[in-house]
Amino acid sequence: MNETQIPFNKPFVAGKELYYVAQAVTRGNLGGDGYYTKACCRLLEDKFGIPKVLLTPSCTASLEMAAILCELEEGDEVIMPSYTFVSTASAFVREGATPVFVDIRPDTLNIDENLIEAAVTDKTKAICVVHYAGVGCEMDRIVATAKKHDLILIEDAAQGVNAFYKGRALGTIGDLGCYSFHETKNIICGEGGALCINNPRFNDRAEIIRDKGTNRRQFFRGEVDKYTWVDVGSSFVPSEICSAFLYGQLKAMESITDRRGEVYREYRDLLQSPSLTGEATLPTIPEDCDCNFHMFYLIASSNGQRDALIQRCRDRGIDAVFHYIPLHCSPMGRQFSHKHSLPVTEDLSSRLVRLPLFHDISREEQALVAEEVLTFLDSSDGGSDD
Ligand SMILES: *Cc1c(COP(=O)(O)O)cnc(C)c1O
Repeated sequence: MNETQIPFNKPFVAGKELYYVAQAVTRGNLGGDGYYTKACCRLLEDKFGIPKVLLTPSCTASLEMAAILCELEEGDEVIMPSYTFVSTASAFVREGATPVFVDIRPDTLNIDENLIEAAVTDKTKAICVVHYAGVGCEMDRIVATAKKHDLILIEDAAQGVNAFYKGRALGTIGDLGCYSFHETKNIICGEGGALCINNPRFNDRAEIIRDKGTNRRQFFRGEVDKYTWVDVGSSFVPSEICSAFLYGQLKAMESITDRRGEVYREYRDLLQSPSLTGEATLPTIPEDCDCNFHMFYLIASSNGQRDALIQRCRDRGIDAVFHYIPLHCSPMGRQFSHKHSLPVTEDLSSRLVRLPLFHDISREEQALVAEEVLTFLDSSDGGSDD
């Protein structure tokens, strides 16, 4: 038995979050769309050049809004990776769509842009890409495919806040982008999210869907003389308390990203060792991508070696963890996937291990993690078959 000494994640508080929460209380408006919700939207819009941002209670909620905006019919298809969080798919399945899973690239674990076109049918309505670990997908190619087939392009940028592809912020390249501020992400408010509306044709309906299917926003702006039920919708509005906390985080976004970069580079330097060669590989960041250092992972040489490494770390009080079970292999996802397998997804998901990465991790803790990993890999030669 071992108390965890080095957790996988520790939520970081930059400093002024509770001050802003207190300010929100003092202002006397704790519902949605008050001072801090607007301030967060403006900050995101200005910083990333997003035409319109709406804060939501989670990235899941943002994806659900995006799916409603796609106006899907039963049996319409949405192309996406299988190597992702469940919400990427469930948001569209709720609207009656069928997820069509496409394999990933072996270097970034992002959807393989070269396989998308072959998955397009006359039922395809949208593509939803996922920027894994805050590293951008090959968006030029994907945007071109979406344009050619007249598909709505959605970015699940849950992990991609303050990361860039060819200088453009992730979440701002497709028609719609979805951010997460869940406590396990880089910029947090407990539970929270945002919908980036990059294509203005979605502006009006997105506001209505977010506000329970009413035109209340238009009423507040004096565009209609009473507000009423006009469309489907739900409560996709976060409270001012969450927004105030988030404002404190957004103000500290650069220093949070810089610190994660330091931790990331420290791991890379510590682990670039002959012991690793042939036993495991480190993450890749393509030239065109500026990463936000959301994650640091290793790809072990086999599933057996990966599981043994996780166990070894756990025995030493280090919380290293695997990641997604591919959706096409899950009980729900199997209902949608056809005969074909996704070899890269199945292989890499079985070999990936994520190392503890959070703002306050110390150099000593990182050194300890690296030492355990390297010692294990040194001693596991030949034991790597599963
Ligand atoms: C975290 C995450 C989500 C869900 O975000 P919530 O804010 O928790 O709803 C969706 N997609 C991806 C890729 C994620 O990493």
